[in-house]
Amino acid sequence: MIWDNHKSKHHRRRLPIEEETANTIRAWLPIRARLDVPAQSARYLFPAVTADHAQAHMSTSNLSKSLRQWVDSIPRLTTDVPGPDGSPLSFDRSLIYPYAFRHSYAQRHADAGVAPDVLRDLMDHRNFSTTMGYYKVSLKRKREAVTTMRMHVVDRSVKPAPITSNTAYEARSVAVPFGNCREPSNVKAGGSACPIRFQCAGCGFYRPDPSYLPDIEEHINSLRADRFTAKAMDADPFAS
Ligand code: SF4
Repeated sequence: MIWDNHKSKHHRRRLPIEEETANTIRAWLPIRARLDVPAQSARYLFPAVTADHAQAHMSTSNLSKSLRQWVDSIPRLTTDVPGPDGSPLSFDRSLIYPYAFRHSYAQRHADAGVAPDVLRDLMDHRNFSTTMGYYKVSLKRKREAVTTMRMHVVDRSVKPAPITSNTAYEARSVAVPFGNCREPSNVKAGGSACPIRFQCAGCGFYRPDPSYLPDIEEHINSLRADRFTAKAMDADPFAS
């Protein structure tokens, strides 16, 4: 689909759509052809409701009103969350409005594993931080990440130390720089009670996290650079 993003002044953007969406548009076309629309609206898929409208296409407020009427006409809307009696809880209809579709679009793509930079492009955002505001990392994806990462845990001397279950990975550790701490009193205190002043690199309870490898390499390079600088300055050995 080709669309004009008037808000960002990006015109003729190409947006891939699913077959189901394409079929829905195809089904709409014959209905649209039978509508008696204002002359200035002839080229629009969704024309203005009357000729008095400032815009030739359907306005946002008309779209909102139509959507509200349709949603209100649905007899029962439920979530997939069971209530106290086991039957599904009702869905809050006020959460259905046109802009929410954009959030659903981002969430569905994120849940399907679409790469963040691709999603940013599809949403036509300049910054990834804007795209991130449109979706949450689902529990399922967090669980998958934990399942993968717990098998790659190593101890401080880089010997494999996989953790047996997701629960153990999450419950018996707290985050420290570049990894996790498994020292029980520090875990119990939520990471604020390290008995040896956070000297993690030399601690038996430290579990470096491989997902930090790029940051660790960057840190090592910066330490190396400091060392060479100290040597060039003829600093005492303890300084380098
Ligand atoms: S030094 Fe050891 S006990 Fe302290 S925070 Fe780091 S890993 Fe935990």
